[in-house]
Amino acid sequence: MSELGSAENPLKVAIVGSGPSGFYALEALLKSGKEVRIDMIERLPAPFGLVRNGVAPDHPKLKQAILVYEKIAESPNFAYFGNVTIGRDVGVDELRNLYHAVLFTCGAESDRKLGIPGEDLRGSHTATEFVGWYNGHPDYRDRNFDLSGEVAVIIGQGNVAADVARILSKTVDELKTTDIAEHALEALGRSNIREIHVVGRRGPAQAKFTAKELREFGELADCAPVVKAEDLALNAESQTEIADKNNAGSATNMKIFETFAAMAPAGKKRRCIFRFLEGPVRIEGAGKVERLVLAKNRLEGAPFNQVARETGETLTQRCDILFRSIGYKGVPIAGVPFDERKGVFPNDDGRIKDSSGPVPGLYVAGWIKRGPSGIIGTNRACAVGTVASLMADFPKLDPAPKPGGEGLRKLLTERGTRVVNYAEWRRIDSAEIGRGQPKGKPREKFTRIAEMLGAIG
Ligand code: NAP
Repeated sequence: MSELGSAENPLKVAIVGSGPSGFYALEALLKSGKEVRIDMIERLPAPFGLVRNGVAPDHPKLKQAILVYEKIAESPNFAYFGNVTIGRDVGVDELRNLYHAVLFTCGAESDRKLGIPGEDLRGSHTATEFVGWYNGHPDYRDRNFDLSGEVAVIIGQGNVAADVARILSKTVDELKTTDIAEHALEALGRSNIREIHVVGRRGPAQAKFTAKELREFGELADCAPVVKAEDLALNAESQTEIADKNNAGSATNMKIFETFAAMAPAGKKRRCIFRFLEGPVRIEGAGKVERLVLAKNRLEGAPFNQVARETGETLTQRCDILFRSIGYKGVPIAGVPFDERKGVFPNDDGRIKDSSGPVPGLYVAGWIKRGPSGIIGTNRACAVGTVASLMADFPKLDPAPKPGGEGLRKLLTERGTRVVNYAEWRRIDSAEIGRGQPKGKPREKFTRIAEMLGAIG
């Protein structure tokens, strides 16, 4: 038998998921020095995961990561299997038989729950739904967001909350030449929202916005950022935090909040109000969200470990629409061990494990490996680490030749799955770019799977 990783017996790996971690894992495998054949399996016809469906439409620079992924995808040793759902079209056990290794990079597709009464009232949404909706993700295409009220509240102070707040804050003119989905632009154009409250359970020094994202609130055409100067008084522990040279981002955020506190909101149609030390207790309303009860909090604990504790005082905030933006969570896949609490596939350096140790041939990278944190580039080092583990395990992998993509294609054909290959994706891509041109948009996305498949016949 030819040696595994040779031209006669290439290492065959299936990557599940086509977001940043998937492409960085692909790149690392192609550079491994072994002869490899890598197939990438994606549930949607369109690749690129959160770069396409998560990055805000008004942040086109972040989407330039796609240019790198397109270059990586040029390798003759790569094949794309779009429109294929694991569990429905092909099982994990089947993939394990077809490939030497299966590497999951399927991200964190669900949300953490607040666990408070009223969370599921009409008008209470997850950030995931809203972000998917304005980005034209087929799963969220038909969601409705009632923007007829004046007061929106966002729970959480991370960059996703910043994206949601900014999209609600911007004028149609600020959005119309982005790749925002047409249905979202229309609905946002009719929005009556005047106040956007962005609520943090801890203080301004603990807000998780990156400075660039926070600063943008001072540059909006018709929305003023609002911060109460007295909310910026820090306890000694928070002062220690912002003085730490490894925490320069928080110190910069404090400076930005100070400039917001000094700004006059007059003359702008909308206000984006940053609030601190307030934790959600319950959501109230008759059949729909009307009010949010918040507990006033204080911080307790040592620097960098401060937690929010209720003071006993509460307040009620009018709320016509609510967005929970408190972090994403991974979802399980049948046949793969899952850590329910953390929402990740349990692993040691990317080797998926169960209670008896590593599961041979199963690997993980990205948010489903380490949880939903970091920026796009963080996933590169993460994927490189996992591929290093896979390469270190090389002597332990089953050396027998595997059917790989040929076997997968045969199986999917038998099952009638309409696989979208990379050349077909490029045709969908061109069609979207063409649809955007007359509107001055970089693209007008297809927002239904049938439309994407229709574009390739
Ligand atoms: P995140 O940065 O972890 O922020 C989550 C926020 O929710 C925090 O403010 C957290 O407060 C709060 N929270 C959590 N549980 C809560 C609860 N029970 N009640 C009230 N508040 C609660 O998560 P994210 O915003 O979803 O972002 C995920 C990752 O994607 C981050 O690394 C982010 O930087 C990245 N991202 C980057 C960009 C960009 O670069 N432009 C854009 C979007 C996302 P505590 O701090 O108190 O836990």
